[in-house]
Amino acid sequence: MNSAYHRRVTSGGELANATSWQLQSTSSALIVPVGSTEQHGPHLPLDTDTRIATAVARALAGHLAVSDELKWLVAPAIAYGASGEHEEFDGTVSIGTSALRLLLVEFGRSAARWAPRLVFVNGHGGNVEALAAAAALLRYEGRDVGWCSCTAANADAHAGHTETSVLLHISPDDVSIDQRVPGNRTPLGQLMPAMRKGGIAAVSDVGILGDPTTATAEEGARIFAEMVDGCLRRVVRWTPDRDGMLT
Ligand SMILES: [Zn+2]
Repeated sequence: MNSAYHRRVTSGGELANATSWQLQSTSSALIVPVGSTEQHGPHLPLDTDTRIATAVARALAGHLAVSDELKWLVAPAIAYGASGEHEEFDGTVSIGTSALRLLLVEFGRSAARWAPRLVFVNGHGGNVEALAAAAALLRYEGRDVGWCSCTAANADAHAGHTETSVLLHISPDDVSIDQRVPGNRTPLGQLMPAMRKGGIAAVSDVGILGDPTTATAEEGARIFAEMVDGCLRRVVRWTPDRDGMLT
């Protein structure tokens, strides 16, 4: 019996698995994970930010499925971002802020033809400038676009306690747990002048800002829930600022 053909796409689904036919006459909103492909120290995979953004996006869609009248779909992730500060390390592939901005603008213009609402879920701090500029333009053009970042209180900056804990929660098999070493734990604000000149390599020869050796899966579950709750509250409230950032 082939009833799947006739089944409407349910909330919390994946855009890639839907057919165009299924999306007709539904009011589908889109969640788009935005990540990066960049070094994350000796112990985390290059797509760490993309994995976190995708996992948060999926959890978000699951929650919205029961609380929102729109049908929320998760789009395939935008897996490259603005990661110039990591280019001293092999494996990093950065498309830079202006290319990412243009990509997001054209993505938004195209998707908004059928999706009345669009939210970018961001997993990489370096993408914020492009996201803000793209969302501001898309909103100016009359498209209902917002974005939020996967953030948690007291998070360390890069491949440290925060990201390592979250990966131990969502992708434990892909963490090289024995390779963890402490990175530079100086607050990010103080490191910025040196990083602007020489990238992460200027302040940490292992490419880590923070301390992954304290990371645990339990911490990861707690931090991940905080990331999801933060985005969920913002999406439900839907009060984008001038740059489309959900507040
Ligand atoms: Zn990261």
